[in-house]
Amino acid sequence: MKERKFKYGKCPICYKEKIFLFNGNIFLLKPPIIKHNCSACSYVYEKESGYFIGALYISYGLTVLELIILYVIIQFFTENVWVIFPFMFSFLVLLSFFNFRTSRIIWISIFNK
Ligand SMILES: [Zn+2]
Repeated sequence: MKERKFKYGKCPICYKEKIFLFNGNIFLLKPPIIKHNCSACSYVYEKESGYFIGALYISYGLTVLELIILYVIIQFFTENVWVIFPFMFSFLVLLSFFNFRTSRIIWISIFNK
């Protein structure tokens, strides 16, 4: 039986190569770049055009979960919505590339036949 061990950002088949060529940098406005296939086992990440549209749903779920956690933490410090919403918005912008990568990694890991 094949042992399955998830490693964040690695190929879901061989766990050797990174899925992303570049992780992205929000401060330089450089988005993450995904490889076409794994160089170790040649597993193709984007099987067809539009393959990652389903990752949008995972990204949405991640974002909502992060915002709920953030709101629960912030509301202990202030109840002023003019402080909470700009803080949440800036938090979202900072985490956008992380959510982008994580949702695609989860999407690739779901369909790795
Ligand atoms: Zn691989």
